[in-house]
Amino acid sequence: MGSPNTEPGIALQSPFKGLTLIMYHQYKQIFQQARASIDSIAGTLDAKYPADSGFPREKWQAVSSTGIFRRAVNAESKRDAILLTVTALERLGEVCKDSGLTFSVATHLASTITALDKFGSPQLKARYMDALVSGQLIGAHAISEPNAGSDALSMITTAREDGGDYVINGHKAFVTNGSVADVIVVYAKTNMAATADCVSAFLVETRSPGVHLGPTMEKVGLSTSPLCELTLENCRVSKENMIGRRGAGFFVLSYVMQREILYSFIIGVGEMHRRLTRCVRYVNSRHQFGSPIGSFQLVANKIVEMKIKYELSRRWLYHVAELMIANKDVTSEVAIAKVFVSENALVTSIDALHIHGGYGYIASNDLGTEVCNALAGPIYSGTNEVQRGRIAALLGINQGKKRSRPPTIQNTKSFARKFASSARRMSSGTPSELLDFLHDDVQIFVSTTLAGESLDERGTAVKLYYAVRDKIAYEVFDTDISEKGLRASQIVKDRRGFCLHKALLYAAACRSQGLACRLVASRVTNHVATRELQDLVGGDVFLHWYNEVNVGDTWLQVSPVFSKLLCKLYGIEPLEFDGYSSAIHQPLSGGLAMNYLDDPVVFTDPRYSELIELVNTYHPGMVTPGGRIPQAKSFRAAL
Ligand SMILES: Cc1cc2nc3c(=O)[nH]c(=O)nc-3n(C[C@H](O)[C@H](O)[C@H](O)COP(=O)(O)OP(=O)(O)OC[C@H]3O[C@@H](n4cnc5c(N)ncnc54)[C@H](O)[C@@H]3O)c2cc1C
Repeated sequence: MGSPNTEPGIALQSPFKGLTLIMYHQYKQIFQQARASIDSIAGTLDAKYPADSGFPREKWQAVSSTGIFRRAVNAESKRDAILLTVTALERLGEVCKDSGLTFSVATHLASTITALDKFGSPQLKARYMDALVSGQLIGAHAISEPNAGSDALSMITTAREDGGDYVINGHKAFVTNGSVADVIVVYAKTNMAATADCVSAFLVETRSPGVHLGPTMEKVGLSTSPLCELTLENCRVSKENMIGRRGAGFFVLSYVMQREILYSFIIGVGEMHRRLTRCVRYVNSRHQFGSPIGSFQLVANKIVEMKIKYELSRRWLYHVAELMIANKDVTSEVAIAKVFVSENALVTSIDALHIHGGYGYIASNDLGTEVCNALAGPIYSGTNEVQRGRIAALLGINQGKKRSRPPTIQNTKSFARKFASSARRMSSGTPSELLDFLHDDVQIFVSTTLAGESLDERGTAVKLYYAVRDKIAYEVFDTDISEKGLRASQIVKDRRGFCLHKALLYAAACRSQGLACRLVASRVTNHVATRELQDLVGGDVFLHWYNEVNVGDTWLQVSPVFSKLLCKLYGIEPLEFDGYSSAIHQPLSGGLAMNYLDDPVVFTDPRYSELIELVNTYHPGMVTPGGRIPQAKSFRAAL
């Protein structure tokens, strides 16, 4: 096995799939530089400090000086930003034996830099970003509470609006970097409902009045990463310090958590590589019964297992990174990564200790410390039980869970009620609220989708289109029937769904950005539909909804292609968003065209009653006369 320095080709293989040779070599050079920047501080990272000397500031500064934080936000493209960061972190894991320090690095990067970069306002970024990426300011985040760990939604920390400020009160249980942090992203409830939009995120300066950091808590591992409790007592934070919109806290958190898992576990992969190299060296040099212990198959096999675990963990994380770069939904992949890599890291740390025999158990050899460090992996960033639960839910396994109210933005019944009452009001002549683009849910959706990016009209329309299509229509309109929106994404993944919801959300989202958007309905006979959908609509004539958006004074047909299968039919990459996609105004040609039965019906300013009437005309029973949305026939059925 070569040293990691001599095998960058292997290290860089998977990230470069699909690049030309010239691009590959350009990238290779850049990535070698990222790794070399970590190697250049190896001496400082190796310096020994007394065990109780706490947070290693000097090493922190050295890591910051490599540009690792800056590259994560200032790189030329998202691809560069993610891959340069991941490559450097992996190398950091290999080179740096202080896992407490590297854990603090990953936390700073994910909790604060990522949150601010993706969701922070330009003003907030201007105030803090430079100092954060230079390592001058240290960041942290506070979600967990004494009685709200895995069940973060049950947090009781509140943020009450008061003039131009929010006043935060609460108690947070575990804050990595807490004792040394200058800023903490605090997650607090801005309304007390157990819904996905009840939490908001705030950047809080630790020197603000009302912020009380507890003493550093002693842990069994990661000892140089300071963890403490945090109490907020009438802590005033300016509204400008909100990260993302009010109520978007869980959107921010879920994005941040995905990055935290990628960043902290790629460091773990680097550590696994270091461990593997060390074990190979040891089994070749340690002799028993007149032979190197590596010659005993049982010992060699342990190392082979370590190699397999290392390789698969590494490859999976780079795969996740690639999916993130392509803006794909990585909910399941990240959960798999969390479970797989953290457990492999733990098992290999125990095996490494065992392979070293009695010497492995001697404290000064640090192998016991590595086990203690690795014990944290299955706990932080969402325990592995919670991650397994998520994977099960994404598989559509009914876990029979019993929260009284699902933590989605609105539940199915409330949507049905809203639908019904609006229909009643319509019949009495009240203007429609159907395209209520000022609705909080729509606003949250739009702001998290666009995340402060300045796009032109078409770019905005394309981005919103992808976000709607990928999954979020269900989260906003909440046709989901399960916990935490997981079932919803599964329905979308399975190509089931009710396209009217998507068309409505898309139209409302566009209008919130000043883009005119109308709804179009057409009967189609060759729609690729699932059996459930055919059962639901009563045959294979399907009333299909899509949008037309006015961009540059032209009405463009937004692709009616909302499903992966249809994307395939039209030869476009289904989940890609590069800002230049041709998904808008898709030509429908030849045999590939949808077979529309008649002229489309266009709704420029749609009203509930009109839409209900039309759906009822073609699909009696799909929407009840009272305006109720259809019920799922079974857990696996579409709406
Ligand atoms: C090193 C370290 C650093 C941390 N840093 C931070 C930080 O910076 N910020 C922060 O906010 N938090 C941090 N945490 C807290 C961490 O996020 C929580 O510990 C974690 O979410 C679990 O919550 P809990 O400790 O309250 O355990 P609980 O939620 O009480 O869980 C206890 C046990 O029950 C299991 N369990 C719970 N619910 C379920 C379920 N539905 N199904 C199956 N099993 C379940 C869990 O898997 C676990 O084994 C950190 C933790 C560690 C160890």
